[in-house]
Amino acid sequence: MIKHFTCVICPIGCEIDVEENGDKVISMKGNKCARGKEFVIQELKEPMRVLTTTVRIKGAEFNMLPVRTDKPIPKRLIPITMEDLAKIEVNAHVKMYKVIVKNIAGTKVNIIATRSM
Ligand code: SF4
Repeated sequence: MIKHFTCVICPIGCEIDVEENGDKVISMKGNKCARGKEFVIQELKEPMRVLTTTVRIKGAEFNMLPVRTDKPIPKRLIPITMEDLAKIEVNAHVKMYKVIVKNIAGTKVNIIATRSM
């Protein structure tokens, strides 16, 4: 089966076509570097993404604090992660890179602030 991917590892965004059989890659074209190959292999196995979002904050200049995961998490866990983050409200003052939630959704990945507020 031929599958198509857009590599999200760098801003070039190579369009990659992969001929695969289950989780085995038979051929690949369109990737400009080896990182694209690694990306596609991971996509076939378990798509992973860094989640960038916001959580509520009390006592700050703005109502929402920008946050992200400190590592990629399985894409399939993003909806439940968003549900968990919707229940959170932090208090100002928060420093950039402060851990807001440890081990979000049992992933062993932390949610960190991406700005001081
Ligand atoms: S294949 Fe390489 S050059 Fe192309 S988008 Fe991915 S990381 Fe960038």
